[in-house]
Amino acid sequence: MKELKHLHLDIPKSDKKRVIIIGGGFAGIQVAKGLKNKGFQVVMLDRHNYHTFQPLLYQVATAGLEPDSIAGALRPLFENYKDFYFRMARVTGIDTENSKIKTLVGELRYDLLVIANGSKTNYFGDQEMYKRTFPMKQLPQALDLRSHMLQNFEQSVMSPDPDEQDRLTNFVVVGGGPTGVEVSGALGELKKHVLPNDYPDLDFKIMNLHLVDAGPRLLAGMSEKSGDKACKYLKQFDVDVRLNTRLESYDGKTVKLTDGTIIPAKTVIWAAGVKGNIIDGLPESMIERGRILVDEHNLVKGTDNVYAIGDIGFMKTESTPNGHPMVAQVAMQQGVRLAKNLILQGKNKAMVPFAYRDKGSMATIGRNRAVVDLPKLHFGGLFAWMVWMFIHLISIIGFRNRLVVFSNWVWNYFTYDRGTRLIIRTFLRNDRYRPGDTI
Ligand SMILES: Cc1cc2nc3c(=O)[nH]c(=O)nc-3n(C[C@H](O)[C@H](O)[C@H](O)COP(=O)(O)OP(=O)(O)OC[C@H]3O[C@@H](n4cnc5c(N)ncnc54)[C@H](O)[C@@H]3O)c2cc1C
Repeated sequence: MKELKHLHLDIPKSDKKRVIIIGGGFAGIQVAKGLKNKGFQVVMLDRHNYHTFQPLLYQVATAGLEPDSIAGALRPLFENYKDFYFRMARVTGIDTENSKIKTLVGELRYDLLVIANGSKTNYFGDQEMYKRTFPMKQLPQALDLRSHMLQNFEQSVMSPDPDEQDRLTNFVVVGGGPTGVEVSGALGELKKHVLPNDYPDLDFKIMNLHLVDAGPRLLAGMSEKSGDKACKYLKQFDVDVRLNTRLESYDGKTVKLTDGTIIPAKTVIWAAGVKGNIIDGLPESMIERGRILVDEHNLVKGTDNVYAIGDIGFMKTESTPNGHPMVAQVAMQQGVRLAKNLILQGKNKAMVPFAYRDKGSMATIGRNRAVVDLPKLHFGGLFAWMVWMFIHLISIIGFRNRLVVFSNWVWNYFTYDRGTRLIIRTFLRNDRYRPGDTI
């Protein structure tokens, strides 16, 4: 990555303690909010100028929602904050010895550091999968998948070769967690209700959807009942669910599964897992299972002024030997707790250990179907779907976004349509004069 030497972070000196927050995601936003006008200088750094509501990324990828409706610019969130600075900058290094972070636009000293930069797609070291499959972790990735999928259908209409048509219209989703299940359900809905109207000259019997998972059931993080229900719902959408099966190889054209099945497919969606976004500079002893080891106050092991929260923090304690799940609720609750703890610490009071309040988990599978696990209750079907919609709607940041998402959902529901089937891929300046373009 190129350093931008003509720029600098330009944060004024202050008598207050400087808290640097890396990442304006679910966790980082809560810390900043909790520290509002509480006597700290707060600096938030994010590689994007927006927050992404990742639980709805799959709807952007499958043309259900526009990207703007699930993302919110970060600056407006902190408009009336005193001594608060947002800088769009990627943090490339952390120097815990000298209490400094490094970015492409220079370095910055901190009194307290909050690492809240989330996770990234885990390919388990497989370079081929990294190169050839579609991840779903960031907005540009979801948009890219949407365009790719629609381009495939456009090409398929014009392809004289039935094998090529097959390859263009088949989809393989790897990973049967919530993301894999939700994207498979959405593809099933597209196949059933939306695409046949757009492409009347295509026979959609050739479009095959496959969901592959190495484990014995879907939604391993949820109850067995919900996993089984999700499987049943997916089958109603014609999704071929393969359990105890792995993707053995993929050359960009043909998928080979460990059960010997060969599937011609131009689209493989990788939803097999995530791992922490580890930034250079932290010693190996601070990292376990791709996340940063923290104590029950989210303090990074071996430091006294560095905290890690959300997906990146691995809170390994006696009661949580496997840490907490990498979900938005944990991230938000840790952000709220940490802000309170930093204020307590500033008053020389004891910090309160983090205790996770699990409010439940859920996943949706196409229209009218979802599964919900509450601490003492599991249910599925239409009511679960309505609960899923309500919870997601109130969780999206910003009234405008909520309104846009709600109106899109109502439109999609009653018209059996999707409003955002545009193919928009990143504009490359060198591509400006493509054959066929007129100047
Ligand atoms: C497709 C998908 C679906 C999901 N569905 C659900 C769901 O239904 N329910 C649920 O609870 N959870 C869900 N999750 C998980 C949830 O999104 C995460 O647990 C949550 O986002 C973690 O919050 P965080 O603040 O730790 O990280 P994030 O929200 O990912 O925020 C991290 C921020 O750090 C920034 N960043 C990263 N690296 C750098 C860097 N080097 N320098 C500067 N900035 C950086 C990023 O741009 C980002 O803004 C889903 C995740 C995905 C990918």
